[in-house]
Amino acid sequence: MLAANLTQVRANIARAAERAGRRPEEITLVAVSKTKPLEMIKIAYDLGVRDFGENRVQEALSKFAEFHPQDLRWHMIGHLQSNKANKVVGAFACVHSVDSLHLAQTLSRYAQKQELHLSILLEVNVAEESSKSGMTLAEAPELARQIAALPQLQLDGLMTVAPLVDDPEKVRPVFRALRQLRDRLRNEVPQGSWQHLSMGMTDDYWIAIEEGSTIVRVGRAIFGERVYTKEQP
Ligand SMILES: *Cc1c(COP(=O)(O)O)cnc(C)c1O
Repeated sequence: MLAANLTQVRANIARAAERAGRRPEEITLVAVSKTKPLEMIKIAYDLGVRDFGENRVQEALSKFAEFHPQDLRWHMIGHLQSNKANKVVGAFACVHSVDSLHLAQTLSRYAQKQELHLSILLEVNVAEESSKSGMTLAEAPELARQIAALPQLQLDGLMTVAPLVDDPEKVRPVFRALRQLRDRLRNEVPQGSWQHLSMGMTDDYWIAIEEGSTIVRVGRAIFGERVYTKEQP
């Protein structure tokens, strides 16, 4: 089942890229393995997946401790509290969910201590939903300027989680707004590489790709529905 799902997702990514006049290799598939057992991660790895997304530090670290091939990259995609920032540096290849100056400063401090560079994305709450974390579109330029100046952080782009809607076409403007912000920041904050737009999930990744996504974060379409046995933060 996992193999068939993955084949389908990859085909959809390739088709969406083609529609947008882009090459499928421009798009990284992050398989979101939160709540899923390590056995499934290993199967996906054997099927060629090298990027995995997790949203809880503790869960990710226990998986990481048991399974850490050299070429596997863990992506932190969930809200991150500053008091867990020390655990993230060195374990994750990229933090997609940097939503405050304080968090960025803390990550920078630990990255300096460990003499490591950390790739980060700024999470933008484009639709300004109160249930979601992330900076607003309006706040992003000033925060980007401040965060870009912090040592040992590589500001590589932007991330968003689109609102839940019945028709995925409705989120297209959200993705477009994030891309436009990225284009603007490329000029205004040249210290960032701005190479990544992390947008698109199970319900809308093909639309995100049409709008310029370079990283899609797909969970359910690969691993199946999630069953939560414990309370989520
Ligand atoms: C859970 C999660 C995903 C994956 O969601 P699916 O709908 O299962 O594809 C992507 N991004 C973030 C930030 C998530 O928390």
